[in-house]
Amino acid sequence: MRRYERAWTAALLAAALMLAACATNPVTGGREFALMTEGREISIGEGADAQIREQMGVYDSPALQGYVADLGHRLAALSHRPYLPWHFAVVDSPAVNAFALPGGYIYLTRGILAYLGDEAELAGVLGHEIGHVTARHSVQAYSRATGAQLGLLLGQIFVPPMRSNPYGGPGIMDAAASGLGLLLLKFGRDDEVQADRLGAEYATGGGWHPEGVAGMLSTLGRISELSDRRGVPNWLSTHPEPTARVAEVAPVVARLLETVDASGLRIDRGGYLERIVGVRFGDNPEEGIARGHEFVHPVLRLGVEFPEDWEIQNSDTVVVARRPGRDGYMLLQLAEEGEPATLEAIAERDTPRDARNVSAGGSRINGMDAHIRSYQRDMDNLGAVMVRAAYIRHDGQVYVVGAVVPVAEFTRIEREVNRSIRSFRALSAEEAARILPNEIALYEAVAGDTWQRIAQRAGGELVPAATLAIMNGYPVDEQPRAGGRLKIVVQGSPVG
Ligand SMILES: [Zn+2]
Repeated sequence: MRRYERAWTAALLAAALMLAACATNPVTGGREFALMTEGREISIGEGADAQIREQMGVYDSPALQGYVADLGHRLAALSHRPYLPWHFAVVDSPAVNAFALPGGYIYLTRGILAYLGDEAELAGVLGHEIGHVTARHSVQAYSRATGAQLGLLLGQIFVPPMRSNPYGGPGIMDAAASGLGLLLLKFGRDDEVQADRLGAEYATGGGWHPEGVAGMLSTLGRISELSDRRGVPNWLSTHPEPTARVAEVAPVVARLLETVDASGLRIDRGGYLERIVGVRFGDNPEEGIARGHEFVHPVLRLGVEFPEDWEIQNSDTVVVARRPGRDGYMLLQLAEEGEPATLEAIAERDTPRDARNVSAGGSRINGMDAHIRSYQRDMDNLGAVMVRAAYIRHDGQVYVVGAVVPVAEFTRIEREVNRSIRSFRALSAEEAARILPNEIALYEAVAGDTWQRIAQRAGGELVPAATLAIMNGYPVDEQPRAGGRLKIVVQGSPVG
């Protein structure tokens, strides 16, 4: 019954889209049912590419872009689909990710570049993403998405960023957890293993050491073990189980090494490191930046201290702080602009109709006019929640900072929440000017160095010691070897 249903749905979908085609898989040579012609595949990639460039931004370094694109084109030329219109770009995101769109559009984040150890690993990542395109995984993933998912996906990428109001709108999970994540196609384990194999093959064909694929998988595996604080969307949400895949790619690498003279294969750690010196690390300060449990925004000139140990995630439209290990969120965002002129009227407009036990009142927060409102409501993922939100006027804008916490737990953290709401403050020009971006630099380890010491020396723990270890290809419990050339994170140059 199930199987029949599935086939029927697929056939119906195909007829509806009139895209049904029986295509030859370029990698396996086998015939397969595909919902998409190659022309359609390319035009989908093209359309989504424009959105990615607009929403994520292209990282402003022509030299780095040229370097990555050059490697990518060399690998793609050796692939099973050399004739596709291949495009490669480094996007301006601190997340650790790489992804591919149908039709040959490949992206690396600047975040992943900080974690790759050498050029062979870069070739491995690029080869892996090329593999997803050549084996038509991206087409299949796209075809698998249901109509509803596609609608959502199109909604996400083809309309301007929605500034939904998480307090009353579609739900905070949507704002916090989806973002571009929905657009990024998810692959199954078999697809990943195949892409790893193809990546190793293409890299070897191009003269790079195939061990680079295993190296980058180990590093990405370590990131997964050390909860990824870089938020959505990341490599792990789209490419599952890197650690387990290391073992699976090992025999592939061994076989490839038998076919070539391994001594001639390129690894080029030194050259790669030189290429990424000065690349920005972490958030762009002009979009606001998390420092410990405080979020500061030098352009909007504001700061909020979230409760200690809560994880802060910054996105285009909302800053979310997440209570560790339990349900409970705090959010900071701009209130939607519009007609209501008073804070009370704006808060009233944003209060959902199903809100219960509403209480509200005017207040002052650090010298600014505020309106604080509390109510209860039911939410899909959280059940009965307590919402407490302050609408604050600052510098000609209205900001909302507030909490969404299950009712049963609210009293336990009410004081923390209130303290956090009342921490909203204006930043002085001097303070704003002192907020600098972080960037990659190089450092030579000396005898007795520890990751902790290097992290401190580089400028007051800009990144945790464990992050430094992983960035340099070490397990977190192993200290750096003396004489090793390491990537570190330092404070960069002033904004603007
Ligand atoms: Zn993948």
